[in-house]
Amino acid sequence: MNIVSTIADVKAFMQSQKKTGKTVGFVPTMGALHQGHMSLVQSCKKDNDITALSIYVNPTQFGPQEDLGSYFRPIKEDTQMAASYGVDLLFLPTDETMYGRHASTYVVEKSLSKVLCGKFRPGHFDGVTTIVLKLLNILNPDRLYLGLKDAQQYRIIEKMAEDLFLPVQVKGVPIIREDDGLACSSRNGYLNPSERAIAPTLFKALQAAQEIFKAGQTDTSALIQIAKDVISKQSEFSIQYLELLEWESFTMRPRANKKSLLALACFLGKTRLIDNTILLP
Ligand code: AMP
Repeated sequence: MNIVSTIADVKAFMQSQKKTGKTVGFVPTMGALHQGHMSLVQSCKKDNDITALSIYVNPTQFGPQEDLGSYFRPIKEDTQMAASYGVDLLFLPTDETMYGRHASTYVVEKSLSKVLCGKFRPGHFDGVTTIVLKLLNILNPDRLYLGLKDAQQYRIIEKMAEDLFLPVQVKGVPIIREDDGLACSSRNGYLNPSERAIAPTLFKALQAAQEIFKAGQTDTSALIQIAKDVISKQSEFSIQYLELLEWESFTMRPRANKKSLLALACFLGKTRLIDNTILLP
């Protein structure tokens, strides 16, 4: 595995691969790698000759009260994991590389980024779109791999690629969960043992909605209510949002009769967890 941290080194590596006609897939991450990240790597390896993975804790997507300072950065373990899954290029840029020279240009998606997490994390998705475009411009991959764990992020980047005619194929990879249903996340490491024990309730809530949807219930309020009822049984949770939106436009509809996203963000103690499920008629 090649480990690089400068733009010049990435470009030199990419040019040598592309010269021989190899296809390149790219997996951007913030590190603290887990099975969710590795499933993106596995999808990427299946479709491409070369797999590039970046680890960069992007400061512009964190709000002033958020966990930028305490975000896990286990670089030694991450490097070993990336190598063991067959990553070809590991890109570890610095803040100086990504935002040096007083960067003042940002990419702003103006519609899909205003709802769900965007309502509660102002500026978050501007940071995400900006860093992803910077990374795409450096790596110039054929395909980009994103997890549906962050479904809103996936849709926003897919939209950015479409709106800005980016020459990259954006691929969404299904959510990977622990055995008890909790979606794998770097932030699960913040949970204490009793919080960790009840955290799978979020998945159970989404499943409860999926079940009545499969049985024919399409009323948006009923689908949201059943999920809320499951979560409310555990007083430790505080729901930030629980919404059902039509997939393409991220708008609310009275009935889930088109592909829809049931998405939630909840605090469990100080830890903010997100999860979602897609309802397909
Ligand atoms: P992060 O390091 O949290 O920025 O995540 C990097 C990428 O991994 C994003 O595209 C995430 O959506 C994806 N990802 C994180 N957790 C999971 C998961 N449990 N299942 C699938 N993809 C995931």
